Amino acid sequence: MRISRKDLAVSEADEKKALLLYGHLPKTRQEAIDRRSDKYFTRRPCVNGHLSPRYTKWGTCIACAMESSARRSDEAKRALEGCGVTNEYA
Ligand SMILES: [Zn+2]
Repeated sequence: MRISRKDLAVSEADEKKALLLYGHLPKTRQEAIDRRSDKYFTRRPCVNGHLSPRYTKWGTCIACAMESSARRSDEAKRALEGCGVTNEYA
């Protein structure tokens, strides 16, 4: 199979899936503000290649935000384990 697209960050299948999931969202931040939507979807991947909606408030990719918060909680967990503290509230 020949790949003609230069931008390989997002496959056509991913693009279709994302459109199905987020196609109803506003396309621009301004439109989201006008429609009072908390999210919008530009149909373009973010700097990290996520085809994900963005928060209207911050313009941040939601997938990026989730990834960084997951990383933070992992770090927090490890830090707690390192102190001998567990997450159990028994
Ligand atoms: Zn992202």
